[in-house]
Amino acid sequence: MSKILEVNDLSVSFDTYGGDVKAVRGVTFELNEKETLAIVGESGSGKSVTAQSLMRLIPMPPGKFVNGSIIFKGQDLTEKSEKQMEAIRGKEISMIFQDPMTSLNPTMTIGKQISESLIKHQNMSKKDAHERGIELLKLVGIPTPEKRINQYPHEYSGGMRQRAMIAIALACNPKILIADEPTTALDVTIQAQIMDLMKELQEKTGTAILLITHDLGVVANAAHRVAVMYGGKIVETGDVDEIFYNPQHPYTWGLLGSMPKLDNRDEELQAIPGSPPDLADPPKGCPFVTRCPFAMKVCENRMPEYTDVSNTQKAACWLLDERAPKVEIPESARV
Ligand code: SF4
Ligand code: MG
Repeated sequence: MSKILEVNDLSVSFDTYGGDVKAVRGVTFELNEKETLAIVGESGSGKSVTAQSLMRLIPMPPGKFVNGSIIFKGQDLTEKSEKQMEAIRGKEISMIFQDPMTSLNPTMTIGKQISESLIKHQNMSKKDAHERGIELLKLVGIPTPEKRINQYPHEYSGGMRQRAMIAIALACNPKILIADEPTTALDVTIQAQIMDLMKELQEKTGTAILLITHDLGVVANAAHRVAVMYGGKIVETGDVDEIFYNPQHPYTWGLLGSMPKLDNRDEELQAIPGSPPDLADPPKGCPFVTRCPFAMKVCENRMPEYTDVSNTQKAACWLLDERAPKVEIPESARV
């Protein structure tokens, strides 16, 4: 698999009245062609800020790149001008959001919104763009696309709006699709349909997907690899099976414990007690220290380095240090 995006030691902060909020703190990952990487974490973990940074959708100021690079096609996106980004956004890297209603234009037909990007990025004629629009709506499973293409977003159901968003995002065959909580606003059946659609389209087009979600349940069937974020950092990363069957970080255990189990739907879900750290004043050591049932003295003062669990999995936790007491994966985190 060839690497298509490389994020190196990225740090993003926001200048606020409450101080400098360090939303993303030294995040490193890569994305390969035809691959789906899920970034999972609670709200405030920095996952959306990471995603928006790739598209340069962070308002600067108050946001700023403090450190690191985002390498796409050999170029650092953190150094691009707004004008240069306009040629990349929607063409090379596209994004879909949780609520299509906020990103679709309510005053424009769906067809016009698809055409816009085709005319802008691919110099298509109006007529060709319209034809391609119909094809795209068909591709994402919108029934009677010849008729639907002339309708407005409010005439679509929630699930159809998300399908239309995906059609717009894929119009120019982007190399990367960023999906930020793409199914959170939808009911469970529609959620599964949209995730299946994204997978199917990925097989057809080869687009790499960066899936941002708070819901590990969505990830199991959708992602190849997972990065778990907490307190602005990636605390564990691995292949999807490693994260589900051999998780090493107590925060990953917590997320797995708060996920409904297929074979036991009556089981009580364990929400992780406590709240995420204040990133205006982040903890000196492990970001999870105030909520971690296994916290030791060292966790308060020193950020753990990554330990390689396998060639593909690593986690940042002092429990993986050879001097730490042996701790078993808790029963609640077993899927
Ligand atoms: Fe818990 Fe310490 Fe590991 Fe952090 S480093 S997750 S506080 S055991
Ligand atoms: Mg978010």
